[in-house]
This record gives sequence, structure tokens and C-alpha cells, in this order.
Amino acid sequence: MKKHNYVSRADALGKLAMAPLAIGALAALRTGAAAANNKSAKSAVKYVDHPVSGKKCDACRFYIAAKHDPMKTRGGCQIVQGSISPNGYCVAWAKK
Ligand code: SF4
Repeated sequence: MKKHNYVSRADALGKLAMAPLAIGALAALRTGAAAANNKSAKSAVKYVDHPVSGKKCDACRFYIAAKHDPMKTRGGCQIVQGSISPNGYCVAWAKK
């Protein structure tokens, strides 16, 4: 038996209805990528790899500790680019 090679009206309408959802999902992905790139450069926030006035990154609300961190290795920061020392500091420091 020959298979019909046409798209039913219901199939076409269903696919048309999904198009805005797909476009929205792509837009959300792009927004997320842009947000990740909106972090400040270390130089812009005067980042240093040592504590200042007793303040250091691992006591800052923006610090992201490295996963599985028995050696207290470098982590990240929610608002500053690059790897961040738990003993570092910048002018955006904010108490946890
Ligand atoms: S905001 Fe500054 S002080 Fe706080 S974790 Fe990020 S780099 Fe460290």
C-alpha cells in the first residue's frame, strides 16, 4: 500500500504552534550566554590574589567554591571573570 506523502492540517497547525516555543527557547539560551559574559574583568574590580583588611573571597557572598575542594583550590565568582583564589579580594567584596 502506498503511503501518502502529505501533511495533515492538524500536523501543520501543531508544527506552527511549536515554532514560537522553539524561538523562545533559543532566545533564552542566548540570554543565558550573554549573562555569563557580563562578569567584570578582574582589573575592573581591582582583584588581587591575597586578602585585604581581613576580607577574602571565600567569605564573600559571590564566591563559588570549587567542587570537591579538599585542597581549597581556586574557585569562581558570580560577578568576576576567571578563576578566583579563596584568599583573593576585590572591591566588590560583600559579606556572606
Ligand atoms: S566579588 Fe570579588 S571578593 Fe567577592 S568572590 Fe568575587 S572576586 Fe572575590
